[in-house]
Amino acid sequence: MYDIIIIGAGPAGLTAAIYAGRQGSKTLILEKGIAGGKGLEVPLMENYPGYEKIQGQKLIQKMKKQATKHAKLKELEEVTKIEKNSKNFKIETKKDTYTTKTIILATGTRHRRLKIPGEKEFLGRGVSYCTTCDGPLYKNKKVLVIGGGNSALQEAIFLHKIGSKPTIIHRRDQLRAQKYLQDQIKKQKIPIIWDTVLKEIKGKEKVQEAIIENKKTGKTSTIKTDGIFIAIGEEPINKLAKNLGIKLDKAGYIITDKQQRTNIERVYAAGDITGGLNQWITACAEGAIAATTAYKDTQK
Ligand code: NAP
Repeated sequence: MYDIIIIGAGPAGLTAAIYAGRQGSKTLILEKGIAGGKGLEVPLMENYPGYEKIQGQKLIQKMKKQATKHAKLKELEEVTKIEKNSKNFKIETKKDTYTTKTIILATGTRHRRLKIPGEKEFLGRGVSYCTTCDGPLYKNKKVLVIGGGNSALQEAIFLHKIGSKPTIIHRRDQLRAQKYLQDQIKKQKIPIIWDTVLKEIKGKEKVQEAIIENKKTGKTSTIKTDGIFIAIGEEPINKLAKNLGIKLDKAGYIITDKQQRTNIERVYAAGDITGGLNQWITACAEGAIAATTAYKDTQK
């Protein structure tokens, strides 16, 4: 029997584990992939206090090392079912079954898809959602980055830095990203095609062309490209929460109170799955609060 089982080992889950273990709770983290989640994809972070610049992968390594001093981590173990009994929860994974007094859901988000012809077909053959993973394959090559938020700009800056030639395609005439990132885009003279959407991705073995449409004029054109990085936002991974009957907002994010409690007693949520600012620092903060609340609630 565990005191706390944390589902998801991104920044929120790992921080929750540090707090949970240090307060004496018997804690297990279950992660369907490798610890880090989308944190592993952050090319360079410049807004995590204490580090002027740090790669997502490096910070995750540090957090994982610290978390596993205080809690057990099981990677590649996806939770398939959660059952609530009178006092405890039974958690089933593809490998085992566990019981716990409390649960912290830190399941995060997944990349939103454009849902256009060619996107699925060319995934891994020119279409990618992760510059840290695939960017180095595009050195000296032309790539398109789709989106106008922080992720798109961060990825374009990273691609430019590693010697690739990015062009941003954004559906409006104004960027959503922070000014700091916009200034870097200007400084590095990364081109932006405004008011434009990607309609189709074409190629033979690999991506070769993108069909784009100017939303103001309705005119379509074809651009030659070697790769397409899609960064158009995130969607919550909320299947387990839905099955448990947890209240979600309109966009599918888990609703919590200020102590990270959900509407189901002894289930807490932390990190990107709760929506909001979607920042590393806020995910960590929520993880810390969730673990502390879970501890307090079981002492009552
Ligand atoms: P985001 O902030 O939601 O931005 C998504 C962008 O994609 C927007 O510019 C949006 O256009 C565009 N878009 C959405 N759907 C589209 C579609 N179907 N076709 C074309 N364009 C589409 O998402 P994000 O940039 O992935 O960031 C997610 C969260 O992580 C945010 O909260 C962000 O602040 C955070 N984050 C922070 C940092 C940082 O602090 N350095 C870095 C990365 C991410 P519109 O602008 O027209 O809506």
